[in-house]
Amino acid sequence: MFVNGEWKDSSDEQKISVINPATGSIIAEVPSASSEDVALAAESAKESFFEGTWSRISPGERATVLLKVAQIMEDRTQELAKLETQISGKSIKQSSGYDLPYTVDNVRFIAGAARILEGKAMGEYVQDGTSAIRREPIGVVGVITPWNYPLMMVVWRAFPALAMGNSVVVKPASYTPLTTLELAKIMEKAGVPKGVFNVITGPGGKVGEELAGNKNIDMIAFTGSTEVGKRLSELGSSTLKKVSLELGGKAPFIVFRDADLDAATEGAVVGGLVNNGQDCANATRYYVHESVKDKFVDLLLKKLKKVKVGDPTDPSTDIGPLISSSHRDRVEGYIERGVKQGGKLLEGGSRPKLKGMENGFFLNPTVIYTENQKSDIVQEEIFGPVFSVLPFSTYDEAIANSNDVVYGLGASVWTKDVTTSMRAVRDLRFGTVWVNEHIPVPSEMPWAGYKQSGHGASLSPYSLEEFTYIKHVYFDLTGGVRKSWYYQIYGGQ
Ligand code: NAP
Repeated sequence: MFVNGEWKDSSDEQKISVINPATGSIIAEVPSASSEDVALAAESAKESFFEGTWSRISPGERATVLLKVAQIMEDRTQELAKLETQISGKSIKQSSGYDLPYTVDNVRFIAGAARILEGKAMGEYVQDGTSAIRREPIGVVGVITPWNYPLMMVVWRAFPALAMGNSVVVKPASYTPLTTLELAKIMEKAGVPKGVFNVITGPGGKVGEELAGNKNIDMIAFTGSTEVGKRLSELGSSTLKKVSLELGGKAPFIVFRDADLDAATEGAVVGGLVNNGQDCANATRYYVHESVKDKFVDLLLKKLKKVKVGDPTDPSTDIGPLISSSHRDRVEGYIERGVKQGGKLLEGGSRPKLKGMENGFFLNPTVIYTENQKSDIVQEEIFGPVFSVLPFSTYDEAIANSNDVVYGLGASVWTKDVTTSMRAVRDLRFGTVWVNEHIPVPSEMPWAGYKQSGHGASLSPYSLEEFTYIKHVYFDLTGGVRKSWYYQIYGGQ
Protein backbone atom coordinates (compact mmCIF):
# COMPACT_ATOMS: atom_id res chain seq x y z
CA MET A 1 0.00 0.00 0.00
CA PHE A 2 1.12 3.58 -0.49
CA VAL A 3 0.66 5.72 2.60
CA ASN A 4 2.25 9.07 3.37
CA GLY A 5 4.71 8.64 0.50
CA GLU A 6 5.87 5.22 1.70
CA TRP A 7 5.26 1.66 0.55
CA LYS A 8 3.99 -0.56 3.32
CA ASP A 9 2.43 -3.91 4.17
CA SER A 10 -0.56 -4.28 6.41
CA SER A 11 0.40 -3.77 10.06
CA ASP A 12 -1.18 -7.13 10.89
CA GLU A 13 0.35 -8.81 7.81
CA GLN A 14 -3.03 -9.88 6.37
CA LYS A 15 -3.23 -10.26 2.58
CA ILE A 16 -5.78 -10.76 -0.17
CA SER A 17 -5.20 -12.64 -3.42
CA VAL A 18 -5.66 -11.20 -6.89
CA ILE A 19 -6.97 -13.66 -9.49
CA ASN A 20 -6.68 -13.55 -13.27
CA PRO A 21 -10.31 -14.10 -14.38
CA ALA A 22 -9.20 -15.63 -17.68
CA THR A 23 -7.32 -18.46 -15.99
CA GLY A 24 -8.71 -18.57 -12.46
CA SER A 25 -5.17 -18.51 -11.06
CA ILE A 26 -3.70 -16.27 -8.38
CA ILE A 27 -1.36 -13.71 -9.89
CA ALA A 28 -0.54 -11.53 -6.88
CA GLU A 29 -1.17 -10.85 -3.24
CA VAL A 30 -1.78 -7.41 -1.81
CA PRO A 31 -2.09 -6.25 1.79
CA SER A 32 -5.42 -6.21 3.55
CA ALA A 33 -5.29 -2.96 5.51
CA SER A 34 -5.71 -3.15 9.28
CA SER A 35 -7.78 -0.57 11.17
CA GLU A 36 -4.50 1.07 12.14
CA ASP A 37 -3.46 1.34 8.45
CA VAL A 38 -6.78 2.94 7.48
CA ALA A 39 -6.47 5.47 10.29
CA LEU A 40 -2.86 6.26 9.39
CA ALA A 41 -3.72 6.84 5.72
CA ALA A 42 -6.57 9.20 6.60
CA GLU A 43 -4.44 11.04 9.14
CA SER A 44 -1.50 11.44 6.73
CA ALA A 45 -3.86 12.77 4.09
CA LYS A 46 -5.29 15.28 6.58
CA GLU A 47 -1.80 16.41 7.61
CA SER A 48 -0.74 16.85 4.00
CA PHE A 49 -3.88 18.90 3.36
CA PHE A 50 -3.10 21.34 6.17
CA GLU A 51 0.61 21.47 5.31
CA GLY A 52 -0.53 23.11 2.07
CA THR A 53 2.16 21.65 -0.19
CA TRP A 54 -0.64 20.67 -2.55
CA SER A 55 -3.79 22.43 -1.34
CA ARG A 56 -2.16 25.88 -1.31
CA ILE A 57 -0.21 25.79 -4.57
CA SER A 58 -1.81 27.23 -7.70
CA PRO A 59 -4.05 25.18 -10.00
CA GLY A 60 -1.41 25.69 -12.70
CA GLU A 61 1.28 24.14 -10.49
CA ARG A 62 -0.98 21.20 -9.67
CA ALA A 63 -1.79 20.83 -13.36
CA THR A 64 1.92 20.63 -14.20
CA VAL A 65 2.28 17.62 -11.89
CA LEU A 66 -0.93 15.94 -13.11
CA LEU A 67 0.13 16.44 -16.73
CA LYS A 68 3.38 14.66 -15.88
CA VAL A 69 1.27 11.79 -14.53
CA ALA A 70 -0.64 11.72 -17.84
CA GLN A 71 2.62 11.65 -19.78
CA ILE A 72 4.06 8.76 -17.77
CA MET A 73 0.80 6.85 -18.14
CA GLU A 74 0.88 7.45 -21.89
CA ASP A 75 4.50 6.32 -22.12
CA ARG A 76 3.59 3.16 -20.20
CA THR A 77 0.33 2.47 -22.07
CA GLN A 78 1.19 -1.05 -23.23
CA GLU A 79 2.45 -2.19 -19.85
CA LEU A 80 -0.49 -0.71 -17.92
CA ALA A 81 -3.00 -2.04 -20.45
CA LYS A 82 -1.52 -5.52 -20.13
CA LEU A 83 -1.85 -5.41 -16.35
CA GLU A 84 -5.38 -4.02 -16.57
CA THR A 85 -6.33 -6.90 -18.88
CA GLN A 86 -4.72 -9.46 -16.57
CA ILE A 87 -6.69 -8.34 -13.53
CA SER A 88 -10.04 -7.43 -15.12
CA GLY A 89 -10.31 -9.80 -18.09
CA LYS A 90 -11.11 -6.99 -20.54
CA SER A 91 -9.72 -7.47 -24.05
CA ILE A 92 -6.26 -6.07 -24.69
CA LYS A 93 -7.77 -4.38 -27.75
CA GLN A 94 -9.98 -2.37 -25.40
CA SER A 95 -7.49 -1.69 -22.61
CA SER A 96 -4.63 -0.56 -24.88
CA GLY A 97 -6.67 1.03 -27.68
CA TYR A 98 -9.43 2.68 -25.69
CA ASP A 99 -9.24 2.62 -21.89
CA LEU A 100 -5.67 3.85 -21.50
CA PRO A 101 -5.70 6.63 -24.16
CA TYR A 102 -9.10 7.81 -22.94
CA THR A 103 -7.98 7.80 -19.30
CA VAL A 104 -4.88 9.83 -20.22
CA ASP A 105 -7.17 12.31 -21.99
CA ASN A 106 -9.38 12.44 -18.88
CA VAL A 107 -6.33 13.36 -16.75
CA ARG A 108 -5.22 16.06 -19.20
CA PHE A 109 -8.69 17.57 -19.32
CA ILE A 110 -9.12 17.58 -15.53
CA ALA A 111 -5.66 19.11 -14.97
CA GLY A 112 -6.40 21.99 -17.33
CA ALA A 113 -10.05 22.50 -16.43
CA ALA A 114 -9.17 23.26 -12.80
CA ARG A 115 -7.44 26.40 -14.11
CA ILE A 116 -10.56 27.89 -15.68
CA LEU A 117 -13.36 27.41 -13.17
CA GLU A 118 -16.33 29.67 -13.75
CA GLY A 119 -18.69 31.33 -11.32
CA LYS A 120 -20.93 34.27 -10.60
CA ALA A 121 -19.30 37.63 -11.31
CA MET A 122 -17.91 39.50 -8.33
CA GLY A 123 -20.06 42.58 -7.83
CA GLU A 124 -22.43 44.67 -5.73
CA TYR A 125 -25.52 42.55 -5.29
CA VAL A 126 -26.50 44.95 -2.53
CA GLN A 127 -25.61 48.61 -2.73
CA ASP A 128 -23.01 48.82 0.01
CA GLY A 129 -21.06 45.62 -0.43
CA THR A 130 -19.07 43.63 -2.93
CA SER A 131 -19.68 39.89 -3.04
CA ALA A 132 -17.33 37.27 -4.41
CA ILE A 133 -17.37 33.50 -4.66
CA ARG A 134 -14.48 31.22 -3.74
CA ARG A 135 -14.26 27.53 -4.49
CA GLU A 136 -12.15 25.77 -1.87
CA PRO A 137 -11.05 22.16 -1.48
CA ILE A 138 -13.07 20.10 0.97
CA GLY A 139 -10.11 18.40 2.66
CA VAL A 140 -9.58 14.66 2.48
CA VAL A 141 -11.63 12.60 0.05
CA GLY A 142 -12.04 8.85 0.55
CA VAL A 143 -12.27 7.37 -2.94
CA ILE A 144 -13.74 3.88 -3.32
CA THR A 145 -13.66 2.37 -6.81
CA PRO A 146 -15.13 -0.65 -8.68
CA TRP A 147 -13.37 -3.39 -10.65
CA ASN A 148 -14.79 -2.82 -14.10
CA TYR A 149 -12.57 0.13 -15.12
CA PRO A 150 -9.93 -0.05 -12.38
CA LEU A 151 -7.60 2.75 -13.49
CA MET A 152 -10.18 4.96 -15.21
CA MET A 153 -12.48 5.04 -12.18
CA VAL A 154 -9.65 6.18 -9.90
CA VAL A 155 -8.95 8.98 -12.37
CA TRP A 156 -12.62 9.95 -12.62
CA ARG A 157 -13.00 10.25 -8.84
CA ALA A 158 -9.59 11.05 -7.38
CA PHE A 159 -8.24 13.41 -10.05
CA PRO A 160 -10.89 16.15 -9.95
CA ALA A 161 -10.47 16.06 -6.16
CA LEU A 162 -6.69 16.41 -6.51
CA ALA A 163 -6.91 19.08 -9.20
CA MET A 164 -8.96 21.19 -6.77
CA GLY A 165 -6.38 20.79 -3.99
CA ASN A 166 -7.85 17.97 -1.92
CA SER A 167 -5.82 15.05 -0.58
CA VAL A 168 -7.16 11.56 -1.24
CA VAL A 169 -7.14 8.04 0.16
CA VAL A 170 -8.10 5.52 -2.52
CA LYS A 171 -9.45 2.05 -1.84
CA PRO A 172 -9.60 0.11 -5.11
CA ALA A 173 -11.80 -2.94 -5.66
CA SER A 174 -10.26 -6.10 -4.23
CA TYR A 175 -10.46 -7.92 -7.57
CA THR A 176 -8.37 -5.28 -9.33
CA PRO A 177 -5.97 -3.32 -7.11
CA LEU A 178 -2.78 -3.71 -9.16
CA THR A 179 -3.07 -0.84 -11.65
CA THR A 180 -4.13 1.53 -8.86
CA LEU A 181 -0.91 0.60 -7.02
CA GLU A 182 1.01 1.21 -10.25
CA LEU A 183 -0.66 4.60 -10.47
CA ALA A 184 0.66 5.40 -6.97
CA LYS A 185 4.20 4.76 -8.28
CA ILE A 186 3.50 7.13 -11.16
CA MET A 187 2.17 9.80 -8.80
CA GLU A 188 5.31 9.47 -6.69
CA LYS A 189 7.53 9.81 -9.76
CA ALA A 190 5.60 12.82 -11.06
CA GLY A 191 6.17 14.66 -7.78
CA VAL A 192 2.83 14.54 -5.98
CA PRO A 193 3.80 15.54 -2.40
CA LYS A 194 3.75 12.87 0.29
CA GLY A 195 0.42 12.16 1.95
CA VAL A 196 -1.61 13.73 -0.87
CA PHE A 197 -2.33 10.50 -2.76
CA ASN A 198 -2.63 7.33 -0.68
CA VAL A 199 -3.73 3.84 -1.67
CA ILE A 200 -4.93 1.24 0.81
CA THR A 201 -6.20 -2.20 -0.19
CA GLY A 202 -8.54 -4.73 1.37
CA PRO A 203 -12.18 -5.80 1.52
CA GLY A 204 -14.82 -3.12 1.15
CA GLY A 205 -16.94 -4.48 4.00
CA LYS A 206 -14.10 -3.70 6.42
CA VAL A 207 -11.53 -1.34 4.88
CA GLY A 208 -14.09 0.61 2.80
CA GLU A 209 -16.44 1.00 5.77
CA GLU A 210 -13.65 2.11 8.10
CA LEU A 211 -12.45 4.62 5.55
CA ALA A 212 -15.93 6.02 5.04
CA GLY A 213 -16.48 6.30 8.79
CA ASN A 214 -13.09 7.82 9.61
CA LYS A 215 -13.21 11.27 11.20
CA ASN A 216 -10.36 12.60 9.05
CA ILE A 217 -12.24 11.80 5.85
CA ASP A 218 -14.30 14.84 4.85
CA MET A 219 -15.99 13.45 1.77
CA ILE A 220 -16.63 10.08 0.14
CA ALA A 221 -16.47 9.69 -3.63
CA PHE A 222 -17.78 6.28 -4.57
CA THR A 223 -18.30 4.48 -7.86
CA GLY A 224 -19.89 1.07 -7.62
CA SER A 225 -23.16 -0.70 -6.99
CA THR A 226 -26.34 1.03 -5.85
CA GLU A 227 -26.51 -1.28 -2.84
CA VAL A 228 -23.09 -0.24 -1.51
CA GLY A 229 -23.84 3.38 -2.43
CA LYS A 230 -26.82 3.27 -0.06
CA ARG A 231 -24.64 1.84 2.71
CA LEU A 232 -22.07 4.62 2.21
CA SER A 233 -24.81 7.25 2.43
CA GLU A 234 -25.69 5.78 5.83
CA LEU A 235 -22.05 5.72 6.97
CA GLY A 236 -21.53 9.31 5.88
CA SER A 237 -24.65 10.52 7.63
CA SER A 238 -23.31 10.31 11.21
CA THR A 239 -20.85 13.14 10.47
CA LEU A 240 -22.82 14.57 7.52
CA LYS A 241 -19.96 13.87 5.13
CA LYS A 242 -20.55 14.89 1.56
CA VAL A 243 -21.11 11.65 -0.36
CA SER A 244 -20.81 11.62 -4.15
CA LEU A 245 -22.25 8.48 -5.73
CA GLU A 246 -21.87 7.07 -9.25
CA LEU A 247 -23.90 3.87 -9.20
CA GLY A 248 -25.46 1.14 -11.30
CA GLY A 249 -27.29 1.45 -14.61
CA LYS A 250 -29.80 -0.37 -16.78
CA ALA A 251 -29.64 1.42 -20.11
CA PRO A 252 -32.52 1.18 -22.58
CA PHE A 253 -31.75 1.12 -26.30
CA ILE A 254 -34.86 2.24 -28.22
CA VAL A 255 -35.14 1.35 -31.90
CA PHE A 256 -37.94 3.23 -33.67
CA ARG A 257 -39.50 1.89 -36.86
CA ASP A 258 -37.59 4.33 -39.13
CA ALA A 259 -34.14 3.53 -37.63
CA ASP A 260 -31.22 2.45 -39.78
CA LEU A 261 -31.29 -1.18 -38.62
CA ASP A 262 -27.80 -1.94 -39.85
CA ALA A 263 -26.40 0.93 -37.76
CA ALA A 264 -28.66 0.09 -34.81
CA THR A 265 -27.63 -3.56 -34.65
CA GLU A 266 -23.96 -2.65 -35.14
CA GLY A 267 -24.30 -0.26 -32.16
CA ALA A 268 -26.36 -2.82 -30.22
CA VAL A 269 -23.60 -5.42 -30.30
CA VAL A 270 -20.96 -2.98 -29.11
CA GLY A 271 -23.30 -1.23 -26.64
CA GLY A 272 -24.15 -4.55 -25.04
CA LEU A 273 -20.74 -6.18 -25.05
CA VAL A 274 -18.21 -3.45 -24.42
CA ASN A 275 -16.09 -4.34 -21.36
CA ASN A 276 -17.41 -7.93 -21.52
CA GLY A 277 -20.90 -6.61 -20.75
CA GLN A 278 -19.70 -5.14 -17.44
CA ASP A 279 -20.09 -1.42 -18.10
CA CYS A 280 -22.56 0.67 -16.10
CA ALA A 281 -23.65 2.20 -19.43
CA ASN A 282 -24.06 -1.09 -21.31
CA ALA A 283 -27.20 -1.31 -23.42
CA THR A 284 -29.26 -3.97 -21.66
CA ARG A 285 -32.90 -3.53 -22.68
CA TYR A 286 -33.55 -3.33 -26.41
CA TYR A 287 -37.02 -1.85 -27.02
CA VAL A 288 -37.66 -2.45 -30.71
CA HIS A 289 -40.72 -1.29 -32.66
CA GLU A 290 -42.87 -4.34 -33.40
CA SER A 291 -42.78 -3.67 -37.16
CA VAL A 292 -38.97 -4.08 -37.30
CA LYS A 293 -38.43 -6.44 -34.38
CA ASP A 294 -37.88 -9.61 -36.44
CA LYS A 295 -35.42 -7.94 -38.77
CA PHE A 296 -33.56 -6.37 -35.81
CA VAL A 297 -33.24 -9.72 -34.03
CA ASP A 298 -32.15 -11.46 -37.21
CA LEU A 299 -29.36 -8.92 -37.84
CA LEU A 300 -28.36 -8.85 -34.16
CA LEU A 301 -27.92 -12.64 -34.03
CA LYS A 302 -25.92 -12.64 -37.28
CA LYS A 303 -23.57 -9.97 -35.97
CA LEU A 304 -23.18 -11.66 -32.59
CA LYS A 305 -21.98 -14.82 -34.33
CA LYS A 306 -18.90 -12.90 -35.45
CA VAL A 307 -17.94 -11.90 -31.88
CA LYS A 308 -14.95 -13.83 -30.59
CA VAL A 309 -14.97 -14.82 -26.92
CA GLY A 310 -11.56 -15.87 -25.68
CA ASP A 311 -8.16 -15.11 -24.22
CA PRO A 312 -8.28 -11.37 -23.46
CA THR A 313 -4.55 -10.99 -24.11
CA ASP A 314 -5.02 -12.12 -27.73
CA PRO A 315 -5.44 -8.99 -29.91
CA SER A 316 -8.09 -10.76 -32.01
CA THR A 317 -10.36 -11.40 -28.99
CA ASP A 318 -13.52 -9.29 -28.75
CA ILE A 319 -14.71 -10.23 -25.29
CA GLY A 320 -13.00 -11.88 -22.37
CA PRO A 321 -14.26 -13.46 -19.13
CA LEU A 322 -16.50 -12.08 -16.41
CA ILE A 323 -14.72 -10.84 -13.30
CA SER A 324 -15.26 -13.86 -11.06
CA SER A 325 -16.80 -17.27 -10.77
CA SER A 326 -19.47 -16.01 -8.36
CA HIS A 327 -20.34 -13.14 -10.68
CA ARG A 328 -20.75 -15.55 -13.60
CA ASP A 329 -23.06 -17.69 -11.42
CA ARG A 330 -25.09 -14.58 -10.68
CA VAL A 331 -25.38 -13.68 -14.39
CA GLU A 332 -26.39 -17.26 -15.23
CA GLY A 333 -29.03 -17.05 -12.49
CA TYR A 334 -30.51 -14.05 -14.29
CA ILE A 335 -30.58 -15.92 -17.61
CA GLU A 336 -32.40 -18.81 -15.95
CA ARG A 337 -34.93 -16.48 -14.30
CA GLY A 338 -35.38 -14.51 -17.52
CA VAL A 339 -36.56 -17.69 -19.22
CA LYS A 340 -38.68 -18.80 -16.25
CA GLN A 341 -40.35 -15.39 -16.20
CA GLY A 342 -41.59 -15.75 -19.78
CA GLY A 343 -38.49 -15.08 -21.91
CA LYS A 344 -37.33 -17.08 -24.91
CA LEU A 345 -33.60 -17.83 -25.12
CA LEU A 346 -32.53 -16.97 -28.69
CA GLU A 347 -28.77 -17.23 -28.30
CA GLY A 348 -26.06 -18.16 -25.79
CA GLY A 349 -26.72 -18.90 -22.15
CA SER A 350 -23.73 -21.25 -22.24
CA ARG A 351 -20.04 -21.25 -21.34
CA PRO A 352 -17.55 -21.45 -24.21
CA LYS A 353 -15.00 -24.26 -24.24
CA LEU A 354 -11.62 -22.57 -24.49
CA LYS A 355 -8.49 -24.66 -24.60
CA GLY A 356 -6.11 -23.81 -21.78
CA MET A 357 -8.65 -21.47 -20.17
CA GLU A 358 -11.04 -24.06 -18.74
CA ASN A 359 -10.84 -22.38 -15.31
CA GLY A 360 -11.64 -18.90 -16.63
CA PHE A 361 -15.01 -17.25 -15.98
CA PHE A 362 -16.23 -17.02 -19.59
CA LEU A 363 -19.83 -16.78 -20.76
CA ASN A 364 -21.19 -16.57 -24.30
CA PRO A 365 -23.20 -13.52 -25.40
CA THR A 366 -26.82 -14.25 -24.65
CA VAL A 367 -30.04 -12.92 -26.21
CA ILE A 368 -33.44 -13.33 -24.58
CA TYR A 369 -36.70 -12.17 -26.18
CA THR A 370 -39.31 -11.20 -23.62
CA GLU A 371 -42.54 -9.26 -23.38
CA ASN A 372 -42.38 -9.17 -19.59
CA GLN A 373 -41.39 -5.64 -18.55
CA LYS A 374 -41.37 -6.77 -14.90
CA SER A 375 -38.94 -9.66 -15.47
CA ASP A 376 -35.75 -9.49 -13.36
CA ILE A 377 -33.65 -9.32 -16.54
CA VAL A 378 -35.49 -6.13 -17.54
CA GLN A 379 -35.59 -4.49 -14.11
CA GLU A 380 -32.23 -5.31 -12.50
CA GLU A 381 -28.60 -4.70 -13.38
CA ILE A 382 -27.18 -8.01 -14.66
CA PHE A 383 -23.67 -6.77 -15.50
CA GLY A 384 -22.93 -9.42 -18.11
CA PRO A 385 -23.22 -10.04 -21.87
CA VAL A 386 -27.01 -10.47 -21.77
CA PHE A 387 -29.35 -8.74 -24.25
CA SER A 388 -33.06 -8.50 -23.41
CA VAL A 389 -35.15 -7.66 -26.49
CA LEU A 390 -38.69 -6.32 -25.97
CA PRO A 391 -41.23 -5.13 -28.57
CA PHE A 392 -43.20 -1.88 -28.37
CA SER A 393 -45.98 -0.40 -30.46
CA THR A 394 -46.19 3.30 -29.51
CA TYR A 395 -43.75 6.09 -28.63
CA ASP A 396 -45.37 6.49 -25.20
CA GLU A 397 -44.99 2.80 -24.43
CA ALA A 398 -41.30 2.82 -25.38
CA ILE A 399 -40.57 5.84 -23.18
CA ALA A 400 -42.66 4.66 -20.23
CA ASN A 401 -41.01 1.22 -20.22
CA SER A 402 -37.55 2.73 -20.61
CA ASN A 403 -38.14 4.95 -17.58
CA ASP A 404 -39.71 2.10 -15.61
CA VAL A 405 -36.57 1.05 -13.65
CA VAL A 406 -34.91 2.45 -10.53
CA TYR A 407 -31.81 3.43 -12.55
CA GLY A 408 -31.18 6.48 -14.72
CA LEU A 409 -27.62 6.51 -16.05
CA GLY A 410 -27.53 6.16 -19.86
CA ALA A 411 -30.08 5.60 -22.64
CA SER A 412 -30.05 5.65 -26.43
CA VAL A 413 -32.59 6.26 -29.19
CA TRP A 414 -32.23 5.12 -32.76
CA THR A 415 -34.28 7.02 -35.35
CA LYS A 416 -33.82 9.22 -38.41
CA ASP A 417 -36.60 11.55 -37.31
CA VAL A 418 -35.34 14.65 -35.55
CA THR A 419 -38.64 15.32 -33.77
CA THR A 420 -38.82 11.82 -32.33
CA SER A 421 -35.23 12.01 -31.16
CA MET A 422 -35.66 15.43 -29.54
CA ARG A 423 -38.87 14.35 -27.78
CA ALA A 424 -37.15 11.24 -26.49
CA VAL A 425 -34.16 13.25 -25.27
CA ARG A 426 -36.61 15.37 -23.23
CA ASP A 427 -38.70 12.46 -21.95
CA LEU A 428 -36.00 9.97 -20.93
CA ARG A 429 -35.01 10.28 -17.26
CA PHE A 430 -31.33 9.45 -17.70
CA GLY A 431 -28.11 11.42 -17.18
CA THR A 432 -26.89 10.75 -20.73
CA VAL A 433 -28.99 10.20 -23.84
CA TRP A 434 -27.30 9.19 -27.07
CA VAL A 435 -28.98 9.58 -30.46
CA ASN A 436 -27.98 6.92 -33.00
CA GLU A 437 -25.03 5.94 -30.80
CA HIS A 438 -24.42 4.29 -27.43
CA ILE A 439 -21.45 4.63 -24.99
CA PRO A 440 -19.16 7.59 -25.89
CA VAL A 441 -18.60 10.28 -23.25
CA PRO A 442 -15.99 12.93 -24.05
CA SER A 443 -13.87 14.19 -21.13
CA GLU A 444 -15.57 17.61 -21.44
CA MET A 445 -19.08 16.24 -20.79
CA PRO A 446 -20.59 15.09 -17.48
CA TRP A 447 -21.26 11.47 -16.62
CA ALA A 448 -24.02 11.68 -14.05
CA GLY A 449 -26.94 9.64 -12.84
CA TYR A 450 -30.63 10.22 -12.26
CA LYS A 451 -32.62 8.32 -9.62
CA GLN A 452 -30.78 5.36 -8.01
CA SER A 453 -27.86 5.68 -10.42
CA GLY A 454 -26.53 8.24 -7.97
CA HIS A 455 -25.80 11.92 -7.88
CA GLY A 456 -22.83 14.10 -8.62
CA ALA A 457 -20.86 14.01 -11.84
CA SER A 458 -17.69 12.55 -13.22
CA LEU A 459 -15.71 14.29 -15.98
CA SER A 460 -16.52 17.83 -17.22
CA PRO A 461 -16.10 20.97 -15.08
CA TYR A 462 -19.03 19.78 -12.93
CA SER A 463 -16.81 17.04 -11.50
CA LEU A 464 -14.38 19.67 -10.25
CA GLU A 465 -17.05 21.67 -8.44
CA GLU A 466 -18.10 18.45 -6.76
CA PHE A 467 -14.88 18.47 -4.72
CA THR A 468 -15.16 22.03 -3.43
CA TYR A 469 -16.91 23.99 -0.76
CA ILE A 470 -18.47 27.19 -2.00
CA LYS A 471 -17.57 30.26 0.04
CA HIS A 472 -19.22 33.66 -0.19
CA VAL A 473 -16.98 36.60 0.70
CA TYR A 474 -18.54 40.00 1.43
CA PHE A 475 -16.60 43.27 1.52
CA ASP A 476 -18.21 46.32 3.10
CA LEU A 477 -17.83 49.39 0.87
CA THR A 478 -19.04 52.09 3.23
CA GLY A 479 -16.23 52.08 5.77
CA GLY A 480 -18.94 53.31 8.13
CA VAL A 481 -19.76 52.43 11.73
CA ARG A 482 -23.58 52.36 11.55
CA LYS A 483 -24.54 50.51 8.32
CA SER A 484 -27.95 51.25 6.82
CA TRP A 485 -29.60 48.01 7.92
CA TYR A 486 -28.44 48.18 11.56
CA TYR A 487 -31.68 49.99 12.42
CA GLN A 488 -33.12 46.49 12.98
CA ILE A 489 -31.25 46.36 16.26
CA TYR A 490 -30.52 50.01 16.98
CA GLY A 491 -34.09 50.88 15.96
CA GLY A 492 -35.09 54.28 17.22
CA GLN A 493 -31.64 55.29 18.53
P1 NAP B 1 -19.36 -2.78 -5.50
O1 NAP B 1 -19.54 -4.17 -5.10
O2 NAP B 1 -20.34 -1.77 -5.03
O3 NAP B 1 -17.89 -2.38 -5.03
C1 NAP B 1 -17.32 -1.13 -5.34
C2 NAP B 1 -16.27 -0.77 -4.31
O4 NAP B 1 -16.89 -0.66 -3.03
C3 NAP B 1 -15.19 -1.84 -4.15
O5 NAP B 1 -13.97 -1.19 -3.90
C4 NAP B 1 -15.66 -2.61 -2.93
O6 NAP B 1 -14.63 -3.28 -2.25
C5 NAP B 1 -16.23 -1.49 -2.10
N1 NAP B 1 -17.19 -1.93 -1.09
C6 NAP B 1 -17.96 -3.04 -1.08
N2 NAP B 1 -18.72 -3.07 0.04
C7 NAP B 1 -18.45 -1.95 0.73
C8 NAP B 1 -18.91 -1.40 1.95
N3 NAP B 1 -19.84 -2.01 2.70
N4 NAP B 1 -18.40 -0.21 2.36
C9 NAP B 1 -17.48 0.44 1.63
N5 NAP B 1 -16.99 -0.03 0.46
C10 NAP B 1 -17.47 -1.21 0.01
O7 NAP B 1 -19.31 -2.61 -7.08
P2 NAP B 1 -18.45 -3.46 -8.12
O8 NAP B 1 -19.06 -4.81 -8.20
O9 NAP B 1 -17.01 -3.31 -7.81
O10 NAP B 1 -18.69 -2.65 -9.48
C11 NAP B 1 -19.78 -2.83 -10.29
C12 NAP B 1 -20.83 -1.77 -10.03
O11 NAP B 1 -20.28 -0.47 -10.24
C13 NAP B 1 -22.01 -1.86 -10.99
O12 NAP B 1 -23.19 -1.65 -10.29
C14 NAP B 1 -21.75 -0.71 -11.97
O13 NAP B 1 -22.90 -0.23 -12.61
C15 NAP B 1 -21.14 0.30 -11.07
N6 NAP B 1 -20.38 1.30 -11.82
C16 NAP B 1 -20.91 2.55 -11.97
C17 NAP B 1 -20.23 3.51 -12.70
C18 NAP B 1 -20.79 4.90 -12.87
O14 NAP B 1 -20.08 5.74 -13.39
N7 NAP B 1 -22.02 5.16 -12.48
C19 NAP B 1 -19.00 3.19 -13.29
C20 NAP B 1 -18.49 1.90 -13.11
C21 NAP B 1 -19.19 0.97 -12.36
P3 NAP B 1 -14.34 -4.83 -2.55
O15 NAP B 1 -13.92 -4.90 -3.95
O16 NAP B 1 -13.29 -5.18 -1.59
O17 NAP B 1 -15.65 -5.55 -2.32
